[in-house]
Amino acid sequence: MKNINKFSDETKTVHAGCSNISEGSVVPPIYQTSTFKFQSADHGARLFSGKEQGYIYTRMLNPTVKAFEDAVAVLENGHKSLACGSGMAAIHTIFATLLQSGDHVICSEAVYGPTNTLLNTVMAKFGVEVDFVDTSNLNAIMHAFRDNTKVVYIETPGNPTLVISDIEKISAITKAKDVKLVVDNTFLSPILQKPLDIGADIVMHSLTKYLNGHADVVGGIVVVNNEDDYQLFRKTLNQIGGVQDPFNSFLVHRGLKTLSLRIERHCHNAMIVATFLENHKNIKWVRYPGLKSHPQHNIAKKQMKDSGGMIAFEIEGGLRAGEIFMDNLNLCQLAVSLGGVETLIQHPASMTHASMSQKQRLKSNITDGLVRLSVGIENVDDIINDLENALSSMHFI
Ligand SMILES: *Cc1c(COP(=O)(O)O)cnc(C)c1O
Repeated sequence: MKNINKFSDETKTVHAGCSNISEGSVVPPIYQTSTFKFQSADHGARLFSGKEQGYIYTRMLNPTVKAFEDAVAVLENGHKSLACGSGMAAIHTIFATLLQSGDHVICSEAVYGPTNTLLNTVMAKFGVEVDFVDTSNLNAIMHAFRDNTKVVYIETPGNPTLVISDIEKISAITKAKDVKLVVDNTFLSPILQKPLDIGADIVMHSLTKYLNGHADVVGGIVVVNNEDDYQLFRKTLNQIGGVQDPFNSFLVHRGLKTLSLRIERHCHNAMIVATFLENHKNIKWVRYPGLKSHPQHNIAKKQMKDSGGMIAFEIEGGLRAGEIFMDNLNLCQLAVSLGGVETLIQHPASMTHASMSQKQRLKSNITDGLVRLSVGIENVDDIINDLENALSSMHFI
């Protein structure tokens, strides 16, 4: 197919990365091989020197993985992308590429728990400094800048509080300061938000979530917007070795084909569920970007096509009430992760964000009673009935 970039996202999700495949197969076959034969000693030498393009060894690149990388780059309007063995491998690849000892990072305080821990432990061990700030507040970002700041890393909407940072305005600051702006786009997917179009330099995803969508693969991806960055990142990834394998790339590429359909249903269901929760007497507060009560509702409307499938809320009665509520659910499953077809619910303070101290959590507004819901694509009435039943089982508290 020619000119894939001129099509809409619904068409891109189906076709991207599926052209130029050998033997005319409609989807990329799984090249389940660790290495590739050279036609001659000279051919091998030319591939290694970069004088000729081709496959050498699967850690360096594999055709099944490349087809999938092409597809995500097309959807993010990026130049190229690099598939990694997990979202955390992707984040580590980004930091290991862009930073060296003595450099400083400004990171969203509402961020995936292990991202916070990676910066505070592994990266700190190698002499990288970090400040976690409320990146929905442009002044807070400005104040955090130091002479050695090299990267601003934002997650928007942030995990798990769904606080939203203004990508375009932050990119104006990072461009003026000549530092890289990295956006974790996991919570929305490129169907709902394209950070590279509004000023970000690098985008990452945990593929484990919406892009795969079926809760059966762990993976990550880095999307870059120019060839120089691509070469730098590819070198680091090749050395660190945290690559995606061909079979998992095949699975995520298959999941990607239904991404726009799934996202449509996630958004539809989540808006109804968020409205239901906001009107329920036993719910203290709800955060969902589509609700007018969300503090950055207007920024959400500006930079996001729709509001996504993630909701945070707190039940009256705090942590104990939350536990009883979660134990009384039947359809909604108690599990970490998100973005799959099934509705999942979890408790950040004791689960995804347990690796942060309570002090750090409270600074990031992760109260002990906060519950995070990843709304699936089931029938929305079934989801609401399940929530309603569990909430009504709590009258004795
Ligand atoms: C899950 C997640 C990650 C990490 O991805 P893994 O695939 O679990 O390594 C990073 N950022 C966000 C927002 C996530 O939800």
